[in-house]
Amino acid sequence: MLSKELYKELAELLGKENVLSEPEDLLNYAFDATAAMPKQTPDLLVTPRTTEQVAGVIKLARQHGVPIYPRGSGTNLCGATIPLERGIVLMTLEMNKIIEVDPENLTAWVEPGVIIQSLNDAAAEYGLMYPPDPGTVTTATMGGSVSMCSGGLRGLKYGVTKHYVIGMEVVLANGEVLKWGGKTVKNVTGYDLTALFTGGEGTLGIMTKLLVKLNPIPEARKTLLAVFDDLDKAGNTISAIIRGKIIPATMEIMDNTTIRTVKKFTNADLPEDAEAVILIEVDGYREAVEREAALAEEICGRSGAVAVIAAKTDEERDRLWLARRNALPALAQVKPTTVLEDATVPRSQITAMLRAIRAIAHKYDLPIGTFGHAGDGNLHPTILTDVRDKEEMERVHKAVDEIFAAAVKLGGTLSGEHGVGLGKARYLPLEFGPVGVEVLRWVKEAFDPHYLFNPGKVVLRG
Ligand SMILES: Cc1cc2nc3c(=O)[nH]c(=O)nc-3n(C[C@H](O)[C@H](O)[C@H](O)COP(=O)(O)OP(=O)(O)OC[C@H]3O[C@@H](n4cnc5c(N)ncnc54)[C@H](O)[C@@H]3O)c2cc1C
Repeated sequence: MLSKELYKELAELLGKENVLSEPEDLLNYAFDATAAMPKQTPDLLVTPRTTEQVAGVIKLARQHGVPIYPRGSGTNLCGATIPLERGIVLMTLEMNKIIEVDPENLTAWVEPGVIIQSLNDAAAEYGLMYPPDPGTVTTATMGGSVSMCSGGLRGLKYGVTKHYVIGMEVVLANGEVLKWGGKTVKNVTGYDLTALFTGGEGTLGIMTKLLVKLNPIPEARKTLLAVFDDLDKAGNTISAIIRGKIIPATMEIMDNTTIRTVKKFTNADLPEDAEAVILIEVDGYREAVEREAALAEEICGRSGAVAVIAAKTDEERDRLWLARRNALPALAQVKPTTVLEDATVPRSQITAMLRAIRAIAHKYDLPIGTFGHAGDGNLHPTILTDVRDKEEMERVHKAVDEIFAAAVKLGGTLSGEHGVGLGKARYLPLEFGPVGVEVLRWVKEAFDPHYLFNPGKVVLRG
């Protein structure tokens, strides 16, 4: 139980309306978008508006020995915002100013509660865009996505969040404000702390301002839908396109389970009988786009696609991408619980990983829909289950263990973009071994020796 004194001090700092303590106000913060995770309501929810207020909250929490859980929109998929040890959830949604879009330096300064799409809308006025593009672009915050180092649909050509964050302001565990990085294209002065906090999952400090790079909006885009009657052929096509030296902005795969489910729930224009489809989008100057699209189409045909359909209008294109963005929401409607993973392999191993997932689904007799950013080697095998069915959940856990083991064995990683959070912390030795896990702990304890920030996530207490 928190002391009344802490509540009083926080209310003085932030105003009573920004400190919620009633159980019904706190219920929504017991969980996030991750399925099959423990739920825990916090003691308090605070919504600061300034860096000084964030620093004040941290100082008070520290004095009272109470943990802080930073939170944006709560859309992460690894239990990263669950307040496991109660304490304070610090929500950034009121820190939502786009401070500056700088078209001369192709940068923007934002507060952490800015929704990604709002930054894109502001940048579009200058013909610019912020390339990281998670499925939650219209709901997730910049702070949350920088903290998770989100990837998304455009990772293949444009990279992920860490390739765009070049500076930040962070409040540290002692309440001091750290400013790092800047607008220069090059900057190798000192350790790259900006890179360290990016992907820090709220365990190292609280980011209060972010400086990100912007790109020019491409002049033209073209979307192709390649249809396959065989999953292996789809996997091989992805490698063939990369080998053919075409780097599409996006190359996404959906297997038959996903296609049928998306079609059923959204009436999307997808071929129900296909074993897999690949959605490809190339972008750039108009002439280059036409040439790349023709080459991609030719490679798909040569690699065994039964059809390759090009979107003829912007509406057709948007409908195809909406179908892909609806993959997870649609799969989530099939059964009460959706266990989604994002084990990632080198692109040359995509077919092997697709086969491994299929074998695991068969072995544990579980429906697994697979979709994802196949061009990045980043698949999302999604197990459709019911957390109340204890016997089935045991099979689910074993299947997840085997999916991770298969990815690591193929030279891959536990997470391509969803992070570690609560869900994957215990698997880290598989990828890093004891030395790697120990080094992670050194870093955590150098910044946050008392585990004030987001305890129970990424690095577990030794
Ligand atoms: C349907 C769906 C589709 C998705 N698609 C993708 C996808 O394609 N690619 C992808 O990468 N992810 C995807 N995600 C995951 C998720 O959307 C992203 O991780 C998202 O960017 C998180 O943003 P958020 O504001 O919801 O953060 P939250 O979930 O609120 O927080 C995420 C983490 O950031 C920390 N945090 C938040 N703000 C701060 C701050 N100011 N300082 C320090 N730490 C902070 C939190 O403590 C937590 O650890 C998807 C999720 C869903 C539900």
